[in-house]
Amino acid sequence: MEKLLCGVDLGGTKLSVGLVSTTGRIHDKITVYDHSGKSEAMIVDQIVGLIRQLISQNEISESDLKGIGMGFPGHVRYRDGHTLTTSNLKGFKNFPLRQSIAEHFKVPVLLDNDANAQAFCEYKFGAGKGYETVIFLTISTGIGAGIILNNKLYRGITGTAGEFGHTIVNSDNKLICTCGNEGCLMACACGLALPYLFKKKIEEGFSTTLTLPEDFNFSQVDGKLIMKGLGIDDPLSKAIMEECADYIGIIVYNIFQIFNPPIIILGGGLTSWGETYLARVRKKFNDLARDMIFDKIEIVESLAGCDAGLIGAAALLLE
Ligand SMILES: [Zn+2]
Repeated sequence: MEKLLCGVDLGGTKLSVGLVSTTGRIHDKITVYDHSGKSEAMIVDQIVGLIRQLISQNEISESDLKGIGMGFPGHVRYRDGHTLTTSNLKGFKNFPLRQSIAEHFKVPVLLDNDANAQAFCEYKFGAGKGYETVIFLTISTGIGAGIILNNKLYRGITGTAGEFGHTIVNSDNKLICTCGNEGCLMACACGLALPYLFKKKIEEGFSTTLTLPEDFNFSQVDGKLIMKGLGIDDPLSKAIMEECADYIGIIVYNIFQIFNPPIIILGGGLTSWGETYLARVRKKFNDLARDMIFDKIEIVESLAGCDAGLIGAAALLLE
């Protein structure tokens, strides 16, 4: 029997553990939502317990696994298997997560950033299949990315390469990013920026046809509300979508100039804004790149869907 890959997708709200085939098919998985307030040690115990439960309910043994691949929602020192920081879970500052899991098993354990795992899933099984170089950008509450160069994830010296969310695209932007800087892409074009953009557009004179609750405050503005607005041709929502898309177009252009990749894949919650959003991203990119494009570059939506983090974490074992 071909060995199965065990994937662990540790997120801020969701923890999934799954058995995945080497072709990227999920054999079985368990998802829980009760881990986020727990200590590091309790989360480690929970992950170990879920892996054992999966092994047992599928009537296999640990030796049927090729290994365990984990995705973590924050910075990771890849070679040491340490987590550095995260804004999605309590603690995990310089925490030896890989070692803490590995001491319970005999198979190899890998730990990487969750966006790297998602990128690897797209490269292996999704929209990036068949390409040697793939840049993946995930745009939801924050912005993450993964860089695959010549069939290998590029992680940088520490393991934190690909933080396009903290590259500065508009130093006049007044919203301060989670990193403390002004002008980061994350403060211009993802979920974190939406309340600020909503307020700013109203101050600029835009009106909205959205029905807002009586106790509305700007912090309630999220991707789903804008999506609702786009569905009813709300001019305010359209203006916000276009501004976000233009900044993504700028980062796509910057990525094009830095890496000259054949494909850039966009994933994450905000891509559900749909084809007009993606078309606007492509238009901004083309307006900037003009006649500097010598070979076709694909700018496409991700294919792997909501299990990309889990499948990608497992697939790290195939790198
Ligand atoms: Zn930043």
